[in-house]
Amino acid sequence: MNIKSHSIIINHKWCKQCGICFSLCPKNVLAMGEDGRPYLKNPTACSGCGLCELRCPDFAITLEGAEHD
Ligand code: SF4
Ligand code: SF4
Repeated sequence: MNIKSHSIIINHKWCKQCGICFSLCPKNVLAMGEDGRPYLKNPTACSGCGLCELRCPDFAITLEGAEHD
């Protein structure tokens, strides 16, 4: 059995509400909250691609992935 799970951790203190992460997420996992910061709208759809973590200019997103065989 191969299980993959990914956790997205968003540090709202560092987020400057630029919108890059939820604009580029290919799986629409992230969406803009009422405060302009991202929230996890659809966390189970995350593919673990890492784009959000890579592209956030303020290092406010951390992707934690786990893979088990
Ligand atoms: S890319 Fe980073 S700074 Fe920009 S909205 Fe997303 S979490 Fe906030
Ligand atoms: S790792 Fe990829 S699929 Fe998951 S939230 Fe970030 S950009 Fe979206």
